[in-house]
Amino acid sequence: MPKKTVSVPIQQVLAKIRPAWVSRVGQEMARGMEVRAGFEEQLERFFDLLEQSVTTGDTAWMDSILLDWAKSSTETDLEEELYHVSFLINRMIALTIQVARELLPKQQALDLLAALVPIYTYCLGVVARYEMETRVAHISKEMEQVQKQMERVDKSKSAFISVAAHELKTPITLIEGYASMMEDLLRAGKGVSLDSLLAGMTTGIDRLRAIVDDMIDVSMIDNKLLKLNFQPMQIGQMLEALRLEVEEVVKSRKLNLEIREFEGNKQWIYVDHTRIMQAMGNVLNNAIKFTPDGGIITIDGRPLQGFIEVTITDTGIGISHDNQSIVFEKFGQLGRVDLHSSGKTKFKGGGPGLGLPIARGILEAHGGSIWVESPGYDEKSCPGSIFHILIPARTESPDAEMTKLFSALESHTKKEDG
Ligand code: ADP
Repeated sequence: MPKKTVSVPIQQVLAKIRPAWVSRVGQEMARGMEVRAGFEEQLERFFDLLEQSVTTGDTAWMDSILLDWAKSSTETDLEEELYHVSFLINRMIALTIQVARELLPKQQALDLLAALVPIYTYCLGVVARYEMETRVAHISKEMEQVQKQMERVDKSKSAFISVAAHELKTPITLIEGYASMMEDLLRAGKGVSLDSLLAGMTTGIDRLRAIVDDMIDVSMIDNKLLKLNFQPMQIGQMLEALRLEVEEVVKSRKLNLEIREFEGNKQWIYVDHTRIMQAMGNVLNNAIKFTPDGGIITIDGRPLQGFIEVTITDTGIGISHDNQSIVFEKFGQLGRVDLHSSGKTKFKGGGPGLGLPIARGILEAHGGSIWVESPGYDEKSCPGSIFHILIPARTESPDAEMTKLFSALESHTKKEDG
């Protein structure tokens, strides 16, 4: 008679492989990821539940730990193949076979695998479903964000068109008005001077050109087509030129514009002079526009490592925290067409909302930056704003010819100074 093999209860077999299983799985997983605190404890818990499932024949025992693990594996984990819980279960299956082969007689190993395979399969199913759901939720969230972004772009595009149309319409109406007045006067054959009418028309045309130029600049910045013509410049001189440009408005609005002397304002640096002046002009014009009559605007600066920082401080209506980054975005302020009154310098006069995006584009093209600080927006208490402008202090032009010319100019100036 063949010798009868005594079958060993499966619980005993499980107990036999337990220590090796825990340490093998623990070690293997620790190699792939940072050792998570209590990982071995988790493995012990998994093994307990495995035993329960084998004993009762009910795989649902595994649910609680699987869901815990699946939840703790974040969405970022899900993007990295290695950390999937399903990957962990797959490795567990392979290691169980390895341990069983090493520690158990053939029959016991087979019995053990026969008992464990359905449970592992169940585990894989649960985890894969959960991971798939998380992944789908993650993708839906991303799609939702993209959709929101597209809606914002769409909204700002139509807002831009309405503001641009409004902005363009005002000077056109102005020009039309003056033109028809001229026509009437000419028809009546009166020998009146047309000078004031022509001046009015020129104002309208200038405004029109400024708006169209802004639009072209924004599109060049957007398409990275802004070409810089580097030339030596002293910030102090450029600020004086700006002062002359705004002198009349500052006077009419009874503003106090103070341009301070600061270290670095006489340093020759290579920039695109016209563009930097345009950027500074945009910020200064805003300071004028958003500061009530009688307010103070101060321009100051200081040298920093590799840069010169210019600050334009006003005692105006301020900018809310939420808006402090939005104002530099194209179409950022284009919510309300009614606020845009084509006022280039009058208090709170709106514009097409392109001034700050252009300033940022110009500074970034130079390798500089711009940002704003303000305690908040309040038209009554006027907390003011400070615009910080960082201009790289280049002592050499990207263009070698210019450097040669500049060195000659510098030695000439030094001689004169000395
Ligand atoms: P706009 O053509 O409307 O002036 P800008 O891009 O120059 O466009 O400015 C965007 C918005 O930022 C302005 O409409 C205004 O709401 C806000 N802003 C800019 N500068 C200031 C300032 N110095 N004080 C208060 N608000 C400002």
